[in-house]
Amino acid sequence: MKSKLLLIILDGVPWRNFRRLFGNLEGWVASGEARVWKMQSVLPSTSASCYASIHTGVPPQVHGILSNDVRFRVKLPDIFSEVSAAGGKTGAVTHSYWSEFFNRYPFDFVRDIEYDEPGGPITHGRFHTMTGYGHDNQMTPSDVDLFATLTMLAARFGIDYGILHTCTMDSMGHRFGHDCVEMDKACFTMDAMLAAFLPRWREAGYEVIVTADHGQSDRGHHGGAGDDQQHFALYYFGAAKGPEKDVLLDQLQLAPTILSRLGVPAPGTMTAKPFLL
Ligand SMILES: [Zn+2]
Repeated sequence: MKSKLLLIILDGVPWRNFRRLFGNLEGWVASGEARVWKMQSVLPSTSASCYASIHTGVPPQVHGILSNDVRFRVKLPDIFSEVSAAGGKTGAVTHSYWSEFFNRYPFDFVRDIEYDEPGGPITHGRFHTMTGYGHDNQMTPSDVDLFATLTMLAARFGIDYGILHTCTMDSMGHRFGHDCVEMDKACFTMDAMLAAFLPRWREAGYEVIVTADHGQSDRGHHGGAGDDQQHFALYYFGAAKGPEKDVLLDQLQLAPTILSRLGVPAPGTMTAKPFLL
């Protein structure tokens, strides 16, 4: 691999919340450690559809994950499959949907909750299902536990590419909306937890991308079109050159960009242009 990279997906954080409430991420932008751009999600701006597009670089109309309820093993090359095929080691600390889309469907609670499978596509997977999730009970793990698990995969196995995905912010948005003390505090807490790990990942030699899968409206909705539901921030920590700061990035660029940073050729299905060079 040309480099190592960690992708951190904070589910359901709209552009405006990243920029006004994540003081550590913004502090690193101000100090020159990080750069930030606005990115636009695919449509529908539904979680499962976005996950599949983030990793395959194709729109939902092509990969076929058109809602959270119709799921299957996606039969397209993705970041995991390409990194593994190039001899790299991948890691995932995510919701179980990612295992279903990019390794095995359906998710078996015992077999798939944790696996180490040399050759991949997901070399080291650690998953959670949020079974029982609803408006009043988020069923999300503590984000410190998730960040620590990714750090463990990096230290113990030397993964070349790792993804962490957490639904905490999305669940808080669905529950409380965005103009409220609960969301202020949730963003503050997430930012502080992430800040405790990020310098360690950089010291271990990883480039880091922190972003979301989609935004949310003020009422805590997403799935449709519109800046509030589709726009979120993308923070990049690393040495690559990026576009001008006011360029709107396309979510389909993320997969080929990550492969390019790792030195892995993008498959023919990923036609969007990398934004980091
Ligand atoms: Zn989502």
